[in-house]
Amino acid sequence: MITSKTKILCIIGNPIEHSMSVTMHNAAIQKLGLNYVYVAFKVFQNDLSSAINGLRAFNIKGSSITIPHKITAMKYLDKIEPMAKNIGAINTIKNENGILIGRNTDGEGFLKSIREHDYDLKDKKIILFGAGGAARACAFYLAKEVAGITIINRTNDRMNDLILKLQSKYEIPIKGINISKSEDIKKEIENSDMLVNTTPVGMYPDGNESLVKQSWLHPELFVVDVIYSPIQTKLLQKASSIGCNVLPGVDMLVNQGIIAFKWWTGVSPDKKLMKQVVLNELDELK
Ligand code: NAP
Repeated sequence: MITSKTKILCIIGNPIEHSMSVTMHNAAIQKLGLNYVYVAFKVFQNDLSSAINGLRAFNIKGSSITIPHKITAMKYLDKIEPMAKNIGAINTIKNENGILIGRNTDGEGFLKSIREHDYDLKDKKIILFGAGGAARACAFYLAKEVAGITIINRTNDRMNDLILKLQSKYEIPIKGINISKSEDIKKEIENSDMLVNTTPVGMYPDGNESLVKQSWLHPELFVVDVIYSPIQTKLLQKASSIGCNVLPGVDMLVNQGIIAFKWWTGVSPDKKLMKQVVLNELDELK
């Protein structure tokens, strides 16, 4: 029951109506019997500074930050974790006695989902499609573990910027190929162990799209899509049909939430329950 002692967690974004975080976190709170509640706030760009200051004013214990505020929100915080600084975006804020700390749990959640899938990243060569927010989060966590990364992107500027940032932190070979260079991409996939899609191509309602041709894939490739709706994207369907090991984005989504929940409350939530809540919501979208 909500009382005058109930602690508040929230998500700030726009649009926010379809966020899975509200049901996912409240289910975990209820299961643990914690006196917390997690609510959604639709916040426009012009109101972001007031909304983040409001976290202090209302003593809101923590907040998820989603599209379009993941970058802008950083300037209103007191501290930012080093990896989030590298990535250049946050997705979580913790309020520690009025001090607002920013963190990016997307990359951590991504890495955790790969580990849980029992995939060993050591000495692996990665081909990663995209250079946006999700790409940056995944690439910074991958670069700590793997033998090399090739970034494929539509816009060279964004791709080159990510490559330079990664090269300034890591010793491994990191290069880029523009998405228009199909033959080069095909060859690069042949020499890669793992392919990661971090673009929204193939996301609901455009579930029939994919940037990767089936003929480019080989059965030894581990194929990861960070898209979680649909669960089995066109890319993952193509990869599964030729025998690739595949991993959908839903595990990353749940894991980034679990890491945030534990950071805010100090308690580990029920992963199985949180995943089931997300799967139910995704099922309703069909
Ligand atoms: P973003 O910052 O807007 O970046 C999008 C990237 O995709 C950019 O590199 C962009 O290329 C590329 N792109 C977009 N449309 C394209 C097209 N038609 N053809 C080729 N490339 C295209 O977006 P984001 O925040 O990274 O999100 C990307 C996806 O990740 C979304 O589907 C989101 O739902 C998902 N995501 C999942 C999780 C999870 O927990 N599973 C977490 C975060 C994000 P340019 O640079 O050329 O524009």
